[in-house]
Amino acid sequence: MLNLLLFGPPGAGKGTQAIKIAEKFGLMHISTGDLLRAEVAAGTPLGISAKQLMDKGILVSDEIVIGMIDSKIEKNLSGKGFIFDGFPRTLPQAEALDKLLSDYEMPITITLALEVDEEELYKRISLRGKISGRVDDQDRNTFLKRMDVYNKETSPLKEYYKKTGVLVTLNGIGEIDEIFNSLSKEITAKL
Ligand code: AMP
Repeated sequence: MLNLLLFGPPGAGKGTQAIKIAEKFGLMHISTGDLLRAEVAAGTPLGISAKQLMDKGILVSDEIVIGMIDSKIEKNLSGKGFIFDGFPRTLPQAEALDKLLSDYEMPITITLALEVDEEELYKRISLRGKISGRVDDQDRNTFLKRMDVYNKETSPLKEYYKKTGVLVTLNGIGEIDEIFNSLSKEITAKL
């Protein structure tokens, strides 16, 4: 099984690249942001409470996202593997994912970290906000809050994955296909 983590700040291109990678390598794409937005759209109690946090750029509780990931993995064990996009975002999430994957005897193949500077991220996020209508993409202060959360809670996970020897850092600025090719090369090297 191939298990990939796609890592990066808001607007780094994780979603765009994860869709392409999932298609090329036959993986199941799991985006916690998409799963949460589906709950919001369906108006579930989980979605209603998550929306209040998401609109402000605050993380939803570890317990909720870990539960969502667990049930997605469990239902898709017969596939070729997974690409996780936007998860894990905190140390408890990373530890929970390790535990889940070791229970299923499927280690992380590679963690791919996309690097993009803050100015470029803000340009992309504000453009996406106009197209998608996402509340959290439309306000500069919310963007800054998400960056702060990323820098404090998520970015330290790079060290975590460096220690286990599965971290590859890549430049996330350039043409979509150019970045996709460099990601694909790293993945292919692990096959
Ligand atoms: P994203 O689509 O990945 O940018 O996520 C949008 C929002 O969903 C985030 O700002 C968080 O509020 C929430 N979210 C997505 N993934 C997670 C996660 N792994 N842990 C906690 N909150 C999350």
